[in-house]
Amino acid sequence: MPGLMQHWSLTCTRILDHAARNHPTREIVSRSVEGPTHRTTYAEMRDRALTVAKRLSQTGLREGDRAATLAWNTWRHMEVWYGLLGIGAIYHTVNPRLFPQQIAWIINHAEDRLLFVDLTFVPIVEKIWSELTTVEHVIVLTDAANMPETGFPASPYEDWLAEADADFTWAELDENAAAGMCYTSGTTGDPKGVVYSHRSNVLHAMSAAIPDMLGLSARDRMMPVVPLFHANGWSLAFSCPLAGAAMVMPGPRMDGEALWELLDGERVTVTAAVPTIWLMLLQYLEKSGKTLPHLERVVIGGAACPRAITKAFEETYDVRVMHAWGMTEMSPLGTVCSIKPEVSGLDGEDKLDLQEKQGHTPFGVEMKITDDAGVEQPWDGKTFGRLKVRGPAISQTYFKNDTPIVDADNFFDTGDVAHIDANGYMQITDRAKDVIKSGGEWISTIDLENLALLHPHVSEAAVIGVSHPKWDERPLLIIVPRDGCTPDASDILASFEGRIAKWWMPNDVVFVDEIPHTATGKIKKTALREQFSDYAFPDEA
Ligand code: ADP
Repeated sequence: MPGLMQHWSLTCTRILDHAARNHPTREIVSRSVEGPTHRTTYAEMRDRALTVAKRLSQTGLREGDRAATLAWNTWRHMEVWYGLLGIGAIYHTVNPRLFPQQIAWIINHAEDRLLFVDLTFVPIVEKIWSELTTVEHVIVLTDAANMPETGFPASPYEDWLAEADADFTWAELDENAAAGMCYTSGTTGDPKGVVYSHRSNVLHAMSAAIPDMLGLSARDRMMPVVPLFHANGWSLAFSCPLAGAAMVMPGPRMDGEALWELLDGERVTVTAAVPTIWLMLLQYLEKSGKTLPHLERVVIGGAACPRAITKAFEETYDVRVMHAWGMTEMSPLGTVCSIKPEVSGLDGEDKLDLQEKQGHTPFGVEMKITDDAGVEQPWDGKTFGRLKVRGPAISQTYFKNDTPIVDADNFFDTGDVAHIDANGYMQITDRAKDVIKSGGEWISTIDLENLALLHPHVSEAAVIGVSHPKWDERPLLIIVPRDGCTPDASDILASFEGRIAKWWMPNDVVFVDEIPHTATGKIKKTALREQFSDYAFPDEA
């Protein structure tokens, strides 16, 4: 017998409708690219998004068409998302930190017809314009007064938008229709396009918002520092309006001082970004003596959150750390380390041990670990395995490539290596391609990096495997010292003693001024491996 409930299509614009009706005066505050702070509300944002939708349909954009954005987190960027969604077109966020040629490749591959671009990124478009084969028009996210001369056909957004009004009805769409796109950096081969559906975005936003995940509420003021172009903006453009949380958008400035100004001045209660951002904020706080009286929680993901960062937030600034793991292919949330009753008695170093784990899954993500032969491994907190996931907001194929990226049971191999404990807390020990294979055993580079970061003279640390005649590979520790410090290699290694198995000890430490990062702020291990490809350990020299 079929169920007797209504069919209510899970389309993304329903989220904005909900926010505008139930939280009409809730603020979206942005640091604009032009400089001044801009304030709007969910009710106004819905009107503007309807106007964008009407203007897009006047332009001839149709259901299924793609439009790219090269933009910071601001109210304009978000209303463009919803405007596109409202006609069944697809928002395609492009990471402006990629090389210009990669940006051109991605836009051509997605066949984007329009390009929405912040003032900051106009020079990138100038550089790649001649290579773009599908973009018909560029809309610069500013007003006429701030519009620069461009060597490509472009309009200032506010003028472009003024040619329409909000008298528009969202398109009726199948909830399984494509809604958004995001390319993963793909360390090998070309970038891969992940395509989200309306349904996957809505389901994902619902499970991301619940208390043990991001725990968003109408009393929150969430500052997404993570850019909308990183992994579906961690769903915050959906989960915040869904929960009725106010939003504080940092625009182009993400230095420690700029973030502190917003955290303090806008009384932000919860924020989210990758560890490197938080490192900058903590250094600023330490230097300036500033504190975080309003901030209650910080979501840290995208790369392993070093214990030192968690300790500083929790113990010095009284801010709860929520370590999270996810992937572009997962919309992106996979796990959050929030406290279940089973572990609520932990404190001090034991609690920090727990918080080094990436956490447990929300409803809608099933995970397992397997050995190389695909045999499922136990949840004992020790046994490593390849981490595999399935769920309604996890990709099954990439754009323009019909080959499934899931196995016969629909599990997607994340490329991460992890263990899971009896309480369901998962801990990533490495990317499969970064793990060091020494004498047939695995050494976790993330564990070693976390230990190095506990040393007071270490600002940033990376561990890579370097080939070794006897052991295949051995760990090399690469360190960026803190400003004004000259750490001693043997002193750093001495601090590891008793905390790791002897054979995990790095064979050498090198000091560098800078460690290369990817476009999403992660340590670029491929570049480090190349840089140190001729390196020979002292005992072999
Ligand atoms: P990009 O590399 O382009 O930023 P993703 O954001 O999709 O693409 O990267 C996902 C990968 O980032 C994961 O597979 C994992 O290796 C890593 N990652 C994300 N969060 C964490 C975390 N909390 N700890 C360790 N690794 C993480």
